[in-house]
Amino acid sequence: MTESKYIYDFSEGNADMKGLLGGKGANLAQMSKIGLPVPPGFTLTTEACLAYWERGAGLLDDLWAGVEEAVARLEKAADKTFGRGENPLLLSVRSGAPVSMPGMMDTILNLGLNDETVEALAANSGEPRFAYDSYRRFIQMFSDVVLGVSSTHFENEIVDAKRALSVRQDYEIDAATWKKLIKRFKEIVKRETRSDFPVDPWVQLRQAIEAVFKSWNTPRAKTYRRINKISDALGTAVNVMTMVFGNLGEDCGTGVCFTRNPSTGEKGLYGEFLVNAQGEDVVAGIRTPQPIAELGSTMPTLYRELLAIASMLERHYRDMQDIEFTIERNRLFILQTRNGKRTARSAVLVAVDMVEEGLIDRTTAVRRVTPDQVEKLLHKQVDPSVPVDVLATGLPASPGAAVGAIVFDPDEAERRGDSGEAVILVRHETTPDDIHGLFAAQGVLTSHGGMTSHAAVVARGLGKPCVSGCEALEIDADRGTLSCGGRTFAKGDILTIDGSRGLVIAGNVPLMEPAMTDEFRKLLTWADAEAAVRVWANADTPADAARARDFGARGIGLCRTEHMFMAPDRLPVMKEMIIASTKEERVTALDKLQVMQEEDYRGIFRAMEGLPVTVRLLDPPLHEFLPKEAEIEGALKKLRDEGRQKAPETLALERTLAKAKALKESNPMLGFRGCRLGIIYPEIYEMQIRAIFLSCLHLAAEGVEVVPHIMMPLVGVQEEMKRLKAMTDRIAEELFSEAGRSVAYETGTMIEVPRAALIADELAEYAQFFSFGTNDLTQTTFGYSRDDAENKFLAQYVAMRVLPEPPFRSVDRNGVGRLMRIAFEDGRRVRPDLGIGICGEHGGDPDSIAFCHKLGLNYVSCSPYRVPVARISAAHAAL
Ligand code: ADP
Ligand code: MG
Ligand code: MG
Repeated sequence: MTESKYIYDFSEGNADMKGLLGGKGANLAQMSKIGLPVPPGFTLTTEACLAYWERGAGLLDDLWAGVEEAVARLEKAADKTFGRGENPLLLSVRSGAPVSMPGMMDTILNLGLNDETVEALAANSGEPRFAYDSYRRFIQMFSDVVLGVSSTHFENEIVDAKRALSVRQDYEIDAATWKKLIKRFKEIVKRETRSDFPVDPWVQLRQAIEAVFKSWNTPRAKTYRRINKISDALGTAVNVMTMVFGNLGEDCGTGVCFTRNPSTGEKGLYGEFLVNAQGEDVVAGIRTPQPIAELGSTMPTLYRELLAIASMLERHYRDMQDIEFTIERNRLFILQTRNGKRTARSAVLVAVDMVEEGLIDRTTAVRRVTPDQVEKLLHKQVDPSVPVDVLATGLPASPGAAVGAIVFDPDEAERRGDSGEAVILVRHETTPDDIHGLFAAQGVLTSHGGMTSHAAVVARGLGKPCVSGCEALEIDADRGTLSCGGRTFAKGDILTIDGSRGLVIAGNVPLMEPAMTDEFRKLLTWADAEAAVRVWANADTPADAARARDFGARGIGLCRTEHMFMAPDRLPVMKEMIIASTKEERVTALDKLQVMQEEDYRGIFRAMEGLPVTVRLLDPPLHEFLPKEAEIEGALKKLRDEGRQKAPETLALERTLAKAKALKESNPMLGFRGCRLGIIYPEIYEMQIRAIFLSCLHLAAEGVEVVPHIMMPLVGVQEEMKRLKAMTDRIAEELFSEAGRSVAYETGTMIEVPRAALIADELAEYAQFFSFGTNDLTQTTFGYSRDDAENKFLAQYVAMRVLPEPPFRSVDRNGVGRLMRIAFEDGRRVRPDLGIGICGEHGGDPDSIAFCHKLGLNYVSCSPYRVPVARISAAHAAL
């Protein structure tokens, strides 16, 4: 067996060798290769790390001769000697895994110092203070990182010394004091570890390398890998590098810079530096660094050199770089480069700019922006740089952040909201009766309810932030107080909620504005070009439809007409229709509704001109449109108490009560709803179909292009589809011949009960399109009632790992997904041009979108605010 090569000089590697040399090592090698000023060094490979874990310390014995040779090469390059001589070579030892991994071993600087070399360094540099300062730093870092002696021991000594000297800053400590402290530090090491601090630089080097290898398997590194799904088999590399010094005087310094602004994406060098300082000082926050631009006036030549290197690196890596540099006596050294971390906003601007600069192609740009980042861009965010006073944590039910005055009553929320005040509606939970309050509020906070509670679903639909199920809150709406952890807030007090993270925060926190910028639109257009599955939207009103279209929706996949019936002017007519005792009475009410519906549809079809609009006929059980029984009984009691037994309103209420009782079901979710209503009371669906066609004919006469898709809910047997298709065609024929013109339309069905999926071939004989209603399909496939499941056991199921994740968030591929596949394949076999989409809430979930792409669906339909997320997800699914 030939021995692997475990040691690479920087001059031997390149950027493609990340797996072997780690990210830091590969980039250092690459920079050396292209001639940038990188201090010489070498890398012990990730394979050496893995071999160490197999063979233990013996590995170090075996490769030590190689380390000695590599150090000899560094000595030669620097014209210094390691551990001896007049001009001692000092080293840094830095870990570097193939993927960026916080939790790995910290860097050790100034390795090679001991009581003799420090004197040589002092004499040679002419800066004794610098020499002793470097030595004490080394003892601190080495003791902390390798020997496990907490740095607080050392810091306490430094604090005492500063007090004795009456100085405030470390850099004000003189050489003599550092010398004394070094002695003290070594005593501490002896006390804490029961052995002397290693004085032999070769022992220091060996222990430091071994510590890096060991840090690969510390509990925190393992945990980090498990959470981030990083393989344990990668190993970490160790970089051993010649030290350069930024703390030798005023012509020295150290800093970090980005080639573009990591928070805005704006082009230009961004970062900070410190004069006369060593690496860690910049992040330590002891001194305030200067903005990088100031380097331009203090050290103009170096600044130009840095600019040139930055732009060269960016062109080389074709991505924004995060660069660490040090200046030693007017010489610039580059110590690290990597692709810079950035905010969502910066990611979009950088990607688009780089396409325009010819650095990357559009596909790469699309790949670089994640659905998560797109989601962040669409909502206001709590500024992450601001410290916040978190009161409680609930569920992150609808993303974005909002600030407003606490209001407990929806009417009051509406009043104050309409007058321009920012309010947060705080409720135990919300019901459809609260919708006006939700609408007027900036955000919603509930103490009960899950991710799919009413508040959560409605808030997501409205694009408003919502924190739900925040059990720690005690809401006393009558007294107008909200208590939490011993603190009480009154109505009108200001609160901030962060629906992206589920936080309730006291007071007014500054928010960052969302940005649907030109670049963002451009990027999404490029995303569309990559995607196979189109993005449609669920929209019930012309305003929603217009918004969806602005966000890039290519159709409406679900227009729920029942929401229209909930409007205050319609509900009474709807009630009239429901409690009608004869068909004539019902038809009278329906005629009134038809006029209203026509108007609604006209608005939506107009907003979506040229694009398909899928209207779903009435779906919920009728009792949902009637007041609750208890409410009716209460009103009746009041009337009777007033002696108005025979008054007309009493009689009307009695009829309503009787109807409510008659409609009562023990399991309404599985009851008299969906197309069952349309089959038993055909006049309801006939009215809706007429309204759809009449509005379309009206618009067509104006020259507006309309594409109506009529969708039947909850179909489970072929006969339902057959009859409803016949009904639609009959009405179309009548109205078209009356109008003397026709419009092209499609009739289709939702697939939302398992039986529909299983008989998809039968349904496809009559249905021209399918739309997976995965909310109901998930409920009926699992046999979970969504609201009950969310509140009662689903969270525990996921916590106990009975379920890998809540099935209402991502499509359950094995069960629900299997039914979708069956329906897809059987449907297409019977009708090859069958249009197939999804309109459940899963339609906006990136993971589910990837599944829909794989199945081959034509479109996913989601709430308007999720359209951009869905567009980028659809592209990523195809890449
Ligand atoms: P991290 O991965 O935590 O950024 P690094 O290995 O990059 O750790 O080291 C941290 C800092 O130590 C660097 O930013 C740099 O300032 C300093 N440093 C590392 N190696 C050297 C060196 N050879 N000469 C001078 N400073 C160094
Ligand atoms: Mg670094
Ligand atoms: Mg449904």
